[in-house]
Amino acid sequence: MNIYYNDDANLELLKNKKVAIIGYGSQGHAHALNLRDSGVSVTVAEQKGSEVWKQAEEAGFTVMEADEAVKEANVIMILLPDQIQKIVYDKSIAENLNEGDTLAFAHGFNIHFKQIVPSEGVNVMMIAPKSPGHLVRRTFEKGSGVPCLIAVEQDPSGSTKDLALAWAKGIGGTRAGVIETNFKDETETDLFGEQAVLCGGSAELIKAGFEVLVEAGYSPELAFFECMHEMKLIVDLYYEGGLSRMNYSVSDTAEYGGMSRGPRLITEETKNEMRKILKEVQNGQFAKEWLAEYAAGQPKMEKLRKENREHQIETVGAKLRNMMSWIMEQ
Ligand code: NDP
Ligand code: MG
Repeated sequence: MNIYYNDDANLELLKNKKVAIIGYGSQGHAHALNLRDSGVSVTVAEQKGSEVWKQAEEAGFTVMEADEAVKEANVIMILLPDQIQKIVYDKSIAENLNEGDTLAFAHGFNIHFKQIVPSEGVNVMMIAPKSPGHLVRRTFEKGSGVPCLIAVEQDPSGSTKDLALAWAKGIGGTRAGVIETNFKDETETDLFGEQAVLCGGSAELIKAGFEVLVEAGYSPELAFFECMHEMKLIVDLYYEGGLSRMNYSVSDTAEYGGMSRGPRLITEETKNEMRKILKEVQNGQFAKEWLAEYAAGQPKMEKLRKENREHQIETVGAKLRNMMSWIMEQ
């Protein structure tokens, strides 16, 4: 697998273009600010009258509505929430795209699941930072960057990959390393990862551990520290040096207890459920469900959000975090 760094990318390719960034949220503000600092001409599109419109103006950008911004630009990066992209694309973007323009994404959802189908004359690329937007900005300002994936779906110009590499360089990605993939693999692994492991799996593991301790009569404060707070320390060790660094750093007692008990939790049954989750991602069932949920006004999402907000681990956690002022300063 090729990994691309600064020397593999030519930023000049992007400096010849007019870039529009649609959406100034987590990813949007980071791409816009980093590219501008890299010498690229960037305009921002937001919803007129919104708080974010004002923020983008205060940051010195020319802000327009999406249709205007797309008309003027030849590279258009869509950094709206995935479930809104098709709506904005149909209303404001599609008719203002010209042959030869490049449409860019930071996640493959709408292209892979055919919510957005650009005409053949449009180049389609992805630059997906493997981190939240605020870290994309923060690392860039410190002189480094976060690793990115790039992919090309349509390439009538023949140079879309080079443009994707230029973009990755402009946001700091080639300082850390850029890997080439395709829209299908990025979309499917990203959705599976967030559902089974990162967001879904880890949150349920933390809640279940907390509930078992509290049910058994231990104090919720103690349970919070054991099951949620310390998770960060463990994840940091994975991040720095994988399983071996984690196991090296914890006590021998924790290492033996973990290795001998962990497999009793993540069993073949759990893996079978993961396989089902992966199938639902691959066959489009999840995408269909999520888009229908959004269209219906998100009733299930709101119910689940409420349940999480009201979970005891959240109330206890908020109280304890208030006592640990250094957490927010890190
Ligand atoms: P956010 O929700 O943070 O930001 C979206 C922005 O779009 C908001 O500023 C929102 O403004 C604005 N917006 C909403 N509707 C419109 C509209 N009709 N016209 C113009 N602007 C609008 O999104 P993310 O940055 O999280 O996600 C953007 C893309 O990046 C997605 O494809 C996502 O999958 C991808 N991605 C996200 C990562 C992350 O960690 N966040 C990581 C890697 C990729 P308002 O607040 O006014 O509604
Ligand atoms: Mg992701």
